[in-house]
Parts: sequence; structure tokens; C-alpha cells
Amino acid sequence: MIKILIVEDEEPIANLVRMNLKNAGYECRVAASGVEGADCLEQEAFDLCILDIMLPGIDGYELLDYAKSLSVPVIFLTAKGETNDKVRGLRLGAEDYITKPFEILELMARVDAVLRRCHKAETELDVCGLHINIPSRRVTRDGREIELTYKEFDLLLLFVRNQGVALYRDLIYERVWDSPYMGDSRTVDLHVQRLRKKAGLQREIEAVYKVGYRFMPLPEDKE
Ligand code: CA
Repeated sequence: MIKILIVEDEEPIANLVRMNLKNAGYECRVAASGVEGADCLEQEAFDLCILDIMLPGIDGYELLDYAKSLSVPVIFLTAKGETNDKVRGLRLGAEDYITKPFEILELMARVDAVLRRCHKAETELDVCGLHINIPSRRVTRDGREIELTYKEFDLLLLFVRNQGVALYRDLIYERVWDSPYMGDSRTVDLHVQRLRKKAGLQREIEAVYKVGYRFMPLPEDKE
């Protein structure tokens, strides 16, 4: 399992990030100060560190150096939106930079991108009785192959990586079809129907009124 360290002294933000990463299947640990963050990095191996810059004691810039010495990629998450800080962060070796306030979906997309770039991306996922092998794009249930089209597979991954999040139709369209949404909701709806049926996720992929869809694993799906 991919392990992510969140170093953030604002508890509500740390909790929001942790909850979303946990729902997407990542294991998380939260440190509320730079010193605590350094201790965590020393004690455990992490695949990624999401790092606030303004921290009590050791700040994010100093901790970035330490994380880099351990080959842990860093995404800065900070209220400092000034271009200078951004340039400094990236020049010092951060993989990416997100300014508060941020969209949680944007954060998740950047986490995925950095993990992919650093070859730490998850290759296999198990959710709701489905086994998903990402490089081979194969999905099985109880050893039986489920034949999904290219778009259906991408749609499944989008849902699995954003559990509990209401996804707007335009966002679904733009992510899966990789082109601007022109209001053609039928395309999204049709693919969701097909995916639900093929993968046996009729109840887990819920329609959200006036929004789109939300993927919610049922309590019995979780062992
Ligand atoms: Ca802070």
C-alpha cells in the first residue's frame, strides 16, 4: 500500500486531506509540526510527503531537504501563493505545489500524477470485490474477467480514486474523455449505466441529484 505523510499544523486541513487520501486507498500519517514530520520520515518509509511551508519550528523548506535526502517526493501545500515562493519551492526540488484554498479533486489528481511520475503509483487495487490491475487494464471479480471498454475502465478508476466524492458530469466527462464538456450528459450516463451493470456496482455508484455520480462502497464491501 502507498504511504503518504501529511505535515500540516492546521488540523481541519490535515483531516480533510487525510480523509480523502484514505478514501482513495492510500495509507496516511499526519504530523502537526516540522519536528514531528522529520521524526515520521526517519521512522517509516513514505512514498510521498504533502508538506505545508509555514510550520512551527522547522519549516517546510527545511523539511523538504530532509525528505529529499531520503528520496521521498514532496508536494507543497501552502497558503503562500506568491510566485516567488512557488519558484523557490520548485527550485528546491518539490515535485509540485498547491496553493490554499484548494480543490480536493485537484490535490488528488496531483498526488496521482506525482506518484506516477516517481514510479510509485499503485499497480493493483482491490475494491468492492473487484480486483483491478492498472497496467494491464484488467478487472476481475472472483477470478472471472470483466470485459470493460477503454472508457469504462477509466471511469472505474476515476470513481475508485475519488470514493465518497460527488463527481460532476462535466468533470467526469473532462477526465475520462479528455475533452471539454459540451453538455452531452447522455454519454456520461450511458457509460455509467454500462459500468454499473458489468462491474456489479449498481448500488455503489449512486446518482447525485443535479450533480452526477458518487462512488460509495457499502459497509459490507469493506472487510
Ligand atoms: Ca501552516
